[in-house]
Amino acid sequence: MMPQNIRRTRIIVTLGPATDTPECIEGLLRAGADIARINFSHGSAEEQLRRIRMWREASARLGRITGLLADLPGPKLRVLLTGPLSLRPGDWLYLTGSDDWQRLSGVAGLTEPRVLDEIRPGQRILFDDGRIQGEAAGRAGRWLAIRIMVGGEVSPNKGLNLPDTCLSLPAVTDRDRAALTVAAAAGVDWIALSFVRDPQAAAEARMACADVGLHVPVLAKIERPEAVERIEAILGSFDGIMIARGDLGVEIPLERVPMVQKRLINMARRMARPVVTATDMLDSMRHNPRPTRAEASDVANAICDGTDAIMLSGETAVGRYPVEAVQCMVRIAEETERHLRDHALPIGTDIPVCSLENLEEPLTATACQLAKQEQAAALVIPTVSGRTARLVARYRPWTRIIAVASRAQVLQELSMLWGVTGVLMAPVPPGEDRIAASIRSAFQAGAVNTGEKVVALAGHPIEGGPRYPTLRLLRIGENGQPTEP
Ligand code: PEP
Repeated sequence: MMPQNIRRTRIIVTLGPATDTPECIEGLLRAGADIARINFSHGSAEEQLRRIRMWREASARLGRITGLLADLPGPKLRVLLTGPLSLRPGDWLYLTGSDDWQRLSGVAGLTEPRVLDEIRPGQRILFDDGRIQGEAAGRAGRWLAIRIMVGGEVSPNKGLNLPDTCLSLPAVTDRDRAALTVAAAAGVDWIALSFVRDPQAAAEARMACADVGLHVPVLAKIERPEAVERIEAILGSFDGIMIARGDLGVEIPLERVPMVQKRLINMARRMARPVVTATDMLDSMRHNPRPTRAEASDVANAICDGTDAIMLSGETAVGRYPVEAVQCMVRIAEETERHLRDHALPIGTDIPVCSLENLEEPLTATACQLAKQEQAAALVIPTVSGRTARLVARYRPWTRIIAVASRAQVLQELSMLWGVTGVLMAPVPPGEDRIAASIRSAFQAGAVNTGEKVVALAGHPIEGGPRYPTLRLLRIGENGQPTEP
């Protein structure tokens, strides 16, 4: 029997050199990882393919439905230098679009030289996650002169952020296209697009995916100030968001990040889009077997905010304690969820509002209320595209959500969603009742048991029949046959 108190918050682990054995991957999965993230900013195509294969094989060995997220590098700006450069406040640094940086000291190159024309005097130029800060003074011939305000040592290839500059870089870069070819060859369930600036980027990303035969949902990484401002439109055009707090905390004032996180999570829930909270969650576990108290609180806070998923980056990809980091995250998530459930505390600060334009949305709210009132063992959701499961999950019901689909990829996509357990069923023959078929499949998978009451909700109850939503309260009979309650 599936336990009632299963963890609802999903855990994403970034694969990397520290997780490169089948034993480690199996350890991550056994500890509770739900989705693997492949960071295409690092590693070769062979390494990415091998990691994806190892994850799929280990998931199959353990009988787990898990997801794979390909995180594209995007137009991340990096500084080109021949060696480390020590900068003090008041120093001048010159940025060039040519190869002068290879010959001259005090001159640095840039991975996307065209942005030099877009930087205006007075705009901030930040190096190495904002640790070193400068201000554009103006052009000096072919070079852009930068006055250093906060000094430090900048090493070759460190990130460069331009929070004040309006950038016209393409949403999907050549490097992203190369990564998509690898992602398509390996088969992934989600794409994440970096440095999204506007809602139109979704169409560009989908087109680039289609070009390589990849048809998967796309997450917008929110790490630019424009994206925060346009969040509603971005949520409308993308399939979900990642709050990429690493770059976001450099691009907007750090002190704004906590409340922006809350607003973004509320907005994503309102629009029934999954939201991932990422970066630095248990950062000190890259070197230590235990996190700091502040990190434990950060994980719990994101769960209280209502995030669908929490993500580990360097902690698993290059850390010394990848499996322990997942175990630790699981313990924090289980304890936080138990507390929220036992004390009937609200999740987030905003209750999702449902649109009355179609019947499905108010019915999902009713399904959650009915399940609570009837103390149902589960909400069983037969789903074709995953949409009904998303609409239910946004209410964060404590009744288990069991999504039943006949396509494995739909369930792999749903592994990103708060509280959703996936069950695979055989294709339903035309004219057959999908609700009864899904309940039998859930019973066979051990997700529901004889005698239990369940609430079933289907956007499309009869296979091949008309599309109208149906809500039923049922009891599981012998052999998983649904009966009257
Ligand atoms: C981030 O900036 O927080 C992030 C997740 O993106 P990346 O790891 O690609 O920098």
